[in-house]
Amino acid sequence: MMKPLTLRTKLTLFYSLTVSILLTGFALIYYRVLTTGMDSDLTQDILDRTSGLRGYLRFEDGQPVFVYDENEPEEVTFIDQATRYYQVYEIETGQLLRESGELQNSQVRFSPADIQNYASTAPSFVDIHTDQGRIRLRNELVSANGSNYLLFVGASMKPLEETVDSFLEGLAWLIPSGVLLAAIASWFMAGKALEPVAALGKAASEIVVSRLDRRLPIQGTNDELDQLAIQFNDTLARLEKAVDEMKQFTASISHEWRTPLAVLRGEAEVALMQTSSPEQYRRVLASQLEEFEKLTRMINQLLTLARAESGEVEIEQETVDLSAMAQKLTEDLEPVASSKNLTLSCNSAPSVTVCGDPGWLERVVLNLLDNAIKFTPAGGHVNVRVSQNGHSATLEVQDDGIGIPNEALPHIFERFYRSDPSRSDRSEGAGLGLSLVKWAVDQHHGSIEVESTPNKGSRFRMKLPSIIS
Ligand code: ADP
Repeated sequence: MMKPLTLRTKLTLFYSLTVSILLTGFALIYYRVLTTGMDSDLTQDILDRTSGLRGYLRFEDGQPVFVYDENEPEEVTFIDQATRYYQVYEIETGQLLRESGELQNSQVRFSPADIQNYASTAPSFVDIHTDQGRIRLRNELVSANGSNYLLFVGASMKPLEETVDSFLEGLAWLIPSGVLLAAIASWFMAGKALEPVAALGKAASEIVVSRLDRRLPIQGTNDELDQLAIQFNDTLARLEKAVDEMKQFTASISHEWRTPLAVLRGEAEVALMQTSSPEQYRRVLASQLEEFEKLTRMINQLLTLARAESGEVEIEQETVDLSAMAQKLTEDLEPVASSKNLTLSCNSAPSVTVCGDPGWLERVVLNLLDNAIKFTPAGGHVNVRVSQNGHSATLEVQDDGIGIPNEALPHIFERFYRSDPSRSDRSEGAGLGLSLVKWAVDQHHGSIEVESTPNKGSRFRMKLPSIIS
């Protein structure tokens, strides 16, 4: 297969072709203008000479003579010029009566038949080829003393032909050298213009995952190449962020799993080291089961999050009664709250409906309630409130629990984020719940925000576009 042409070669070819077409076009137009101009100048010149000469032509004893004032320099010069190419024929006999030296040298002769012909079409022009080049002749009828004569007056076309020849010769040099010059110039220009592209390519090829903080150089010219570099750098910045998130995610997973795995291992080792009663083994196994459940829950949450973020999860579009859902979930969690000595209440406006996925919305509310119960000590209160505000439905989960420190507030929706690891050891959460909540709320075109005061409590407020019935 043929090697594809480089952009530089293509540009050079394109420019050279354009220049050669332009040059040839201009040359053709100029050639036409030049030749027609010169041709018509010559013709006009011959016409002037013919009519001038006719004025001086006399016939004495049937012989043509030019009668003029030899003391008049203008007349002398004119006769000198005009009589270089002329012949006078008697039409009747076809006999040549008189001619100029130039025509005699060129041996221009017309037969009686030719003369008859020309006489019938006179006045007219005729171009004759001779050894001395082409000659243009004008013939006109002249009558004198009852006889008819044919007068030929002309000029050599040699100067015209020579000018055209040297013009064409000039072109034969000019066009190829013009094209060559254009080719060289465009080769350099294209090289110069493409230099930054090559530099960009080189800089881009040096960027690897481990060096995503590198950026392409911006020249500050704000041209297309600068724009390209800026866009490329933006893409790099996004990639860098994504890779950083991935790294952090991996680090977090490893970290999260280290503790339960160490616990499992420790328990197993201790149990194996000492001979224990079946009762003791049972206790160890039960404790291990708890750790396994924690791990399983974490893996399930991770899988859901991964599927959600890779766009595999489809969000259903159904009418969901948020008020009824809040009521039902409150009732479901009542036993959990009671076991922690918490009061759980729900006050909702009736039939606040939204359009969305009932499964996901339930998971959102459940997560918020679960957190509230988890982070509120005995004797506390957890309240759910559903209300409608114009086109938006609001669901609030409020507790008077331990609250969230100010510095943790911006991060609680991040994966694996737990505001205080020492506290979370008590709870079994992995810090994934709220990132799933955030994802689901975003998918429903809603928003979620949190207000919290440490030791006073927290309030999570979710807003969704509502359906107004
Ligand atoms: P977890 O599984 O640890 O609950 P989440 O993503 O649901 O993870 O929550 C992240 C962190 O936000 C929690 O570890 C906790 O520190 C904080 N948090 C969430 N809800 C509350 C709340 N109602 N009161 C106090 N802290 C909360």
